[in-house]
Amino acid sequence: MTAVDDDLSLATVYAAEDVVLGILDRGGAVDFYGSTLDLSRIKVRRWKPDQLLIMRGIVDGLYQKHRTTGPQRSPALRSSRKAVKAFYQGGVHEIVLPLQPWAWNDLVLMHELAHSLTTGTGRGNRAAHNLAWRKTYSALVSEVIGPEAGLILMNQLNL
Ligand SMILES: [Zn+2]
Repeated sequence: MTAVDDDLSLATVYAAEDVVLGILDRGGAVDFYGSTLDLSRIKVRRWKPDQLLIMRGIVDGLYQKHRTTGPQRSPALRSSRKAVKAFYQGGVHEIVLPLQPWAWNDLVLMHELAHSLTTGTGRGNRAAHNLAWRKTYSALVSEVIGPEAGLILMNQLNL
């Protein structure tokens, strides 16, 4: 199967992330097209707002490692009481996380970091979840959470 450079709707992406998070949180052995993926060592880290400094370090390291275009400096990372969604804002080059607990995990962080690493994506852009973003997001999840997590995410994102 060849991945198509279509833009997935936000609802599709969120549904895929819910499925992936559910699988990873359950852990154990998972059947994946006839092969068994061992998820016993895979864990999606949960963060708290008072750990922003650590999260900024992670974002900075990954952004500098993977940046090909875009600003040289890493995106800012902040929390917002008003925000109801996590988002990357291209103009000011920042990742904003709402204070709701669901937003504070590595999947959400890598989702937004992938926006900062793929030009022309992010808030307000219809092609936000295009092929470049999906590949970048999956690669980040493979690196940060584990290759099995990346495989499951790629499958859910039609890659
Ligand atoms: Zn997005």
